[in-house]
Amino acid sequence: MGSCQQLSFSHKRLEGKVAIITGGASGIGERAVRLFWSHGAKVIIADIQDALGQAICDQLKDPQHVAYVHCDVSEEEDVRKAVDLAVEKFGRLDIMYNNAGVIDLAGTTSILTLEKEVLERTLRVNLVGAFLGTKHAARVMVPLRIKGCILFTGSATASIACMTEHAYVASKRGILGLAQNVAAELGRYGIRVNCVSPYAVATNITKAAGVVTDDEAAELESFMSDAGNLKGAVLKPEDVARAALFLASDEAGYVSGLNLVVDGGFSISNPSVT
Ligand code: NAD
Repeated sequence: MGSCQQLSFSHKRLEGKVAIITGGASGIGERAVRLFWSHGAKVIIADIQDALGQAICDQLKDPQHVAYVHCDVSEEEDVRKAVDLAVEKFGRLDIMYNNAGVIDLAGTTSILTLEKEVLERTLRVNLVGAFLGTKHAARVMVPLRIKGCILFTGSATASIACMTEHAYVASKRGILGLAQNVAAELGRYGIRVNCVSPYAVATNITKAAGVVTDDEAAELESFMSDAGNLKGAVLKPEDVARAALFLASDEAGYVSGLNLVVDGGFSISNPSVT
């Protein structure tokens, strides 16, 4: 058998795999749901926006492969139920994509005025939620000997100082630490753990944070080119979902502990260089 044959991968890159995508009802998560499904995965959308999550299922019209479950990632019982649903309905869990996240506008403030409650609220969804998803995925993957994959949506802001988003940045840097530490532990079971870290994608979260308004493309284009990003690059949820697809697939079979930054070069660029 030639090496080309050994390296060839199925067109459907997630055939036979079962995934949970938290925050799958909108933005990056929604794109990942559609992309993973189109690549043959059975997908559970876990979110708190029930109408949106159910609407995706209704639109895809494929109940054998897609289901929605109400899951507040900061509630351990909800996460436990979502993971158990994957096993009951689809027989296993291969991919846990801890993607749900929030920016609390009240947290976009100076450290002098940042309220402890705002920090705690942000950490509870972004970091505790990711921890719970990881813990319960491992609870299933380890005894079933599934060589699974745990993914996180971090943020490029975890690697750069980001003005006044202290609560959000703390949560995302926490995710990065969690991801890499868990990668070190779960490697012995063949479970890979990786992080996808975008920056300034036009989604509800960036609208809420005031980074983009309705004229998303134009706004983001000028925002990102000012910042020394890839010329003309406007990050779309699809771009982030594709990076997640790579990490979730067997093509990344030896990739673990990685923080894959998807920001068009923003975080390594120097805005003063033109
Ligand atoms: P989004 O607001 O469109 O999606 C976030 C999703 O998470 C929503 O569907 C929301 O209902 C869900 N969610 C919020 N709280 C939840 C909870 N407690 N339990 C379950 N689900 C919950 O925004 P997005 O940009 O697609 O965000 C997805 C992830 O990407 C987040 O973790 C965010 O921090 C991260 N991120 C986004 C950007 C960006 O520029 N958009 C940049 C870096 C990181």
